[in-house]
Amino acid sequence: MKLAARAGRIVPSPTLSIAATAKAMVAQGIDIIDFASGEPDWDTPESVKAAAEAAIRSGFTKYTASAGIEELKRAIAEKLAVEQGLRYDTSQILVSCGAKHSLYNLAEALLEAGDEVIIPAPFWVSYRDQVLLNDATPVLLHTSEADGYAVSHTGLEACVTPRTKAMIVNSPGNPTGATYDRATLEGIADVALRHDLVIISDEIYEKILYDGARHWSIATLGPDVAARTVVVNGVSKAYAMTGWRIGYAAGPKDLITAMANIQSQSTSNPSSISQKAAVAALQGGGAFTQRMVVEFDRRRRLMVERLNKMPGVSCRMPSGAFYAFPNIAGVFTRRHQRGPITSAAELAAYLLTEARVAVVPGEPFGSSSHLRLSYATGIEVIARGLDRMEAALRQLT
Ligand code: PMP
Ligand code: GLU
Repeated sequence: MKLAARAGRIVPSPTLSIAATAKAMVAQGIDIIDFASGEPDWDTPESVKAAAEAAIRSGFTKYTASAGIEELKRAIAEKLAVEQGLRYDTSQILVSCGAKHSLYNLAEALLEAGDEVIIPAPFWVSYRDQVLLNDATPVLLHTSEADGYAVSHTGLEACVTPRTKAMIVNSPGNPTGATYDRATLEGIADVALRHDLVIISDEIYEKILYDGARHWSIATLGPDVAARTVVVNGVSKAYAMTGWRIGYAAGPKDLITAMANIQSQSTSNPSSISQKAAVAALQGGGAFTQRMVVEFDRRRRLMVERLNKMPGVSCRMPSGAFYAFPNIAGVFTRRHQRGPITSAAELAAYLLTEARVAVVPGEPFGSSSHLRLSYATGIEVIARGLDRMEAALRQLT
């Protein structure tokens, strides 16, 4: 069968497929330690589950308004006003089936053949493929580990061409865990204003911050910046609700309306039950998130400290999200029985077979000299997995 060319341009999400492989191996009884899955290991808060149960019991189980129920859109508007000082009318908010879906609607509404989108690298895997799926061209802006993966004004300016339509800002970022300070965001906003770019601000990890790091939404830098920014967020990470599939976008009305029209012709509304659950999460989930972040912080320190003691490995302390992104270039001088290790993908394969530890290699994030390890798993599991990883690395000669 001859498929559409766009289907051939993309691969399955590597983060999802590697995590699925690890889970399938565990289900077969294989003792795998999973550092691949990018989702909180915590259970969804009870108050959120209760709201979902109440929705089911009261028959709130039909189609809703395609763009989301007003109650949830008001809760989102309230959150953005109280926490960020951003004012949106509910007509400027679209609720979708996860932030990934919000981003996808946005790419469909905004992009066409010839358009370029600047993506700071390392980047979360789906940004590139969603741009490709919509016939546009991803332009990678390589950032340096030594500079904490910050986007420099000159580096960004050098990526802009007459075809640049948009750029992605993801702070705190997946996979690096880096957060942008205000000065970095001001530099990005300046370039966006001068070149008439749309800013896609993926703020899904905004509440998962450490060491006093602060989240700034780039949309807060002024009305002219807000007018060209789409803030994307959701409940997956902050409230351990990855399976409920609720994300949202807030931005300029014409763009949000176009996204809502696309949604109404594709998925219709996100689950009615999950929408009610998301209202409860946004209105009462703050204490849960704080407890979870305290625990993530303990795990983060343990993981980064241990990684830095391994031969050939060095790891920055991330200031947000729940991933360590160790540099493993020092391992490339070493070999195992079957030959040398020359890439992150080879090291990840070696760790899976030798140590039975699942990690995501850096290549799909735009780096062949890093691995991504999620520390959203129990601290004893982390300690055991790192013991195994260290032993496997010490076997290399
Ligand atoms: N953005 C980033 C950076 C992510 O890591 C994720 C998690 N996969 C998402 C967006 C999408 O999250 P969800 O669709 O679960 O809301
Ligand atoms: N955010 C997670 C990750 O990066 C979930 C998987 C995905 O959607 O990519 O692993």
